[in-house]
Amino acid sequence: MFGASYTNAGSKMKEPFITISRINAPVIDGNVEKKEWNNAVQITNFLKVDGTAPAKEQTFCRIGYDDNNLYFGCKMQAWALDPASNQRHTFKSKVKKYKGPVWDDDSIELRFSMPGNPLKVFFIAINANAAVHPLIIKYKSGGAVAGMLPWTPKIQAKAKINDGFWSFELKIPFSELGVHPGFSKFGRLCVDRFEKRLSENSAWSNMRGSLLNPKGFGWYVFTDKRMGIAPDEIPVLRPGENHGNIKIYTVEPQIVTFSTTVIFEDGTTEKKEKYYRLKKASYTNLKSSFKIINPTKNWVQFTIADKKGKVLYQTKPLRRPDSNSYGKVPEIAFSGKVYGSIDIYLNGKKYPLNAKFKKSLNPGLNTLMLFIPAGANCKGKFKIGTQIFALDSGWKYKLSNEPLGLSLDSNTRKWVEYSPKIMAQNKSGGICLQKVILAGASKTFPQFIDNTLYMSVNGTYGFQVNVQSCPPSVPAMKVDNLKYFIEVPEGITLVGACGRVGKISRFPQSIWKNRNIYSWRDLGVFVRTESGRPEKYRRYRIERQGKALLTDKNPRYGRYDRCTIALKAGAETKKWISKDAKKIFFRIEADNGYIQETNNVLFLKMLPQLAGKAPRKIKFDVGGMVQLYRFMADDKLILEVAKTLHDAGFNQMMYDGFQDIQGKTGVATYWFYRYTGYADVDNLIYIRDVLKHFPQRYVGQNGAKHPQSICWDALLDTPDAVDAFKDAVKAYYKKLPYQSMLFEDYEYPAYAKDPKKIYRVNACFCPYSLKRFRKKMNIPEPVSIELIGKKYLKQWIDYQCTRVAEQMRLGYEASHECGKAFSSYSAYQSDYTISHYTFDYRKTGRWVDQASAGYGRPLNAIKATRKALKGKPLLGGVLSIPVNKVISPPAILLRRILDCGGGVLCWWEDAYDARKLHQVAQASTLVAEYEDFFLAGALSTEKVESLIESPSLDNIYLCKHQNRYLLILLNENQLPAQIPVKFLKALKSIKYALNKKSLKVQPKLTIPIKGGSYEALIFELK
Ligand SMILES: [Zn+2]
Repeated sequence: MFGASYTNAGSKMKEPFITISRINAPVIDGNVEKKEWNNAVQITNFLKVDGTAPAKEQTFCRIGYDDNNLYFGCKMQAWALDPASNQRHTFKSKVKKYKGPVWDDDSIELRFSMPGNPLKVFFIAINANAAVHPLIIKYKSGGAVAGMLPWTPKIQAKAKINDGFWSFELKIPFSELGVHPGFSKFGRLCVDRFEKRLSENSAWSNMRGSLLNPKGFGWYVFTDKRMGIAPDEIPVLRPGENHGNIKIYTVEPQIVTFSTTVIFEDGTTEKKEKYYRLKKASYTNLKSSFKIINPTKNWVQFTIADKKGKVLYQTKPLRRPDSNSYGKVPEIAFSGKVYGSIDIYLNGKKYPLNAKFKKSLNPGLNTLMLFIPAGANCKGKFKIGTQIFALDSGWKYKLSNEPLGLSLDSNTRKWVEYSPKIMAQNKSGGICLQKVILAGASKTFPQFIDNTLYMSVNGTYGFQVNVQSCPPSVPAMKVDNLKYFIEVPEGITLVGACGRVGKISRFPQSIWKNRNIYSWRDLGVFVRTESGRPEKYRRYRIERQGKALLTDKNPRYGRYDRCTIALKAGAETKKWISKDAKKIFFRIEADNGYIQETNNVLFLKMLPQLAGKAPRKIKFDVGGMVQLYRFMADDKLILEVAKTLHDAGFNQMMYDGFQDIQGKTGVATYWFYRYTGYADVDNLIYIRDVLKHFPQRYVGQNGAKHPQSICWDALLDTPDAVDAFKDAVKAYYKKLPYQSMLFEDYEYPAYAKDPKKIYRVNACFCPYSLKRFRKKMNIPEPVSIELIGKKYLKQWIDYQCTRVAEQMRLGYEASHECGKAFSSYSAYQSDYTISHYTFDYRKTGRWVDQASAGYGRPLNAIKATRKALKGKPLLGGVLSIPVNKVISPPAILLRRILDCGGGVLCWWEDAYDARKLHQVAQASTLVAEYEDFFLAGALSTEKVESLIESPSLDNIYLCKHQNRYLLILLNENQLPAQIPVKFLKALKSIKYALNKKSLKVQPKLTIPIKGGSYEALIFELK
């Protein structure tokens, strides 16, 4: 009972129920003053412990909490303390020691469990000396005491003896209770009292004779308001479901209004109201349904108000959450005929097989076994969700004298062979059919908002399915012939599937060798009637070569089996725009069908064809795209992807594939300026010939050799090696002639706090490097790592910045000799960038044709970077990881371009879907159409202020080309905005920049701008 589930508790409870409210922290002085405790719930009407009668001496206990503490303030009527009683000697308060036998005195005992953890009861006895005795009582789920545990919490307590009563105040930090009040559900509470004069033992709730009896405890719930809505009972919005419930606990009967408000992207709202009559001491599920038009942009807010309309509780606006859950775990049901007696074992539990067999599957792992004794037989099929598994040869069978299947040992979390007891009956040759059924084992990466993939008509998009992210209930297991089945609405075609093998790093070069591990086949079109309406689906089977590993390891960068699937939306998908989401189904199968996954669903929404424009010179650079698509197996496919990107307006892409994308799509590709001595690594500067010049190359603080790196200090001083290095760069371009440039990605500190961890790719502490440093920087004494850290760090950083620039010079010169460009990536120019990355644009700026930098909007750092680059283009960084976190709206993309001048680096947006690309297209269209204005750059604040007056000047940019001004108004906020503009000089004409509609010439305008977007106007002065 005590451990019984809470869900039944509210409506059935006989025990008293309270809500414990948030209060202002009382002063712990022993005086339970009304003004301090006014907002706290009070418990009284104590009963004798046997429950037969009210206590003669009553107790009044106040209970409250704040962010950090739980508070008790109790007053105990005591006739013995009334001077008129002459009974003072009967009041006992002897114990003064911490953890003394407090209960031998007149005392109170607090017993309570924290919500969600009913078997652990905190016990604190306290007497009128404020001597406390804390301990923990552990219960078994049946209600028996399992044991007492020592507990030494920091309790602050003060007690007072007054005329006719004694009192105490007590404070316990939540940290001592292992939880914070940001939770809910019911906790249980007992306050009991020993009154020595009467030998009366009383308690707040009916303890039925025993204070250790947990059945008698009262109930409580923490709440911010009197009403009692626990924070974890706020509605959870689920993908595809248009309803949300709030569980509400009430102390007193009352009538409330429950309203649901949907906030649409244009700021309009739609509200629905319901009335509820709530009963005393009960909980009620308030139910809401709503209609969302655009799940990614609409918000839902729930409000509970009293009869008079006073808001009792309101949620924040909620969005249907990011999700990668694939809905409910399906049921398994049998339909067919059974001859004889057949047992089915589902997850080790035995059931008779008949036409009524229907059971819920567990999330994650399920084992299914059919034991068919000799002479028995069955025909039919199993239905799991919408999938059918026929009883056919796809089922594994083994003779019964062998172990019958795999089962999971819950202690070791290992697969063990499994033999049900029925084995003994089955010597005559029955068989066992078995399957492992996985529910929700595959996960997509990126995780999509609302589990929805957005595609544009004629666009190619991809996602990865990670088998390795099986739920934790599925232990690692190697499987044979792994297959994916993917079903897409007809109109969508699978244009590629590939993967990679083995543990790899973030920038794996060797994966090219392994990427063709998947082959795929179109299985044809079938009709699905899942939604009651028939719909044509195309089914594909993707097969993996070799064994695959199923594991629940984190798939962030992926370790083993990551299958990238690229889909193309045909022209006919145009008719799906603005319609309900379609569904894509996918699942895995392995070991010849022995392992089956239930279907996963990914929603699919169609957006119009992309109509962005790529500018000529201003860069729209898609930085991290490669993470997703570089695993694609064939060049045709990456070409499709690049075309889609180009349709959004991208003109540059970090990619090292083999195709001449630049020539065919207008997207330039570029790659790292990195180098390696390994022969089996593709697409990096291959420096074997350089290394020949350094047979004694030392890299690292201990003079240890490192096969992958070079001592740059030595290299720069060795002319032959410099030539060899330049040759290696040239060889790179020869091998990958389509690459437009290389870039230096410099993110290595010059010096670590822990000298043992100094070794990085570039900074070298070998004897040669230390000597060179000493000479170049005129250091008067021999240096060591330690001495540099103590005395010469400033010089060391300056030296490293120079050396990085010298090193870049080689790449720059070699690239230019090949007619290619050279660029850099680091943070924006700042003292931090210099000391942390040893990257100083004043030194490196000379050796680049373009720089891309940083994230956010540190205006001074951006200014310093541009100054150091002396007019060379700077691309400002926009970072988003991954698709469900941040979408860079056009306003942010444009602001980055206007701040930095050269373009925008959209880094790590490898999870581009059509929504993002439409945002990019909005920005690129303006830049492409008015590129001359953007190349001229944004006018200074002073110039803008001389022409325009507005309370929102920070959101206003002006670019001038010839006689015309381009006025750009940005709104980075989600909600629509109106920007007022007053022209300080007379205008000749003004029109919208994109649709070219003329506006009436007038000095004052108010321009409405959609959330996240911009408006652009072209005007001329008189
Ligand atoms: Zn060195």
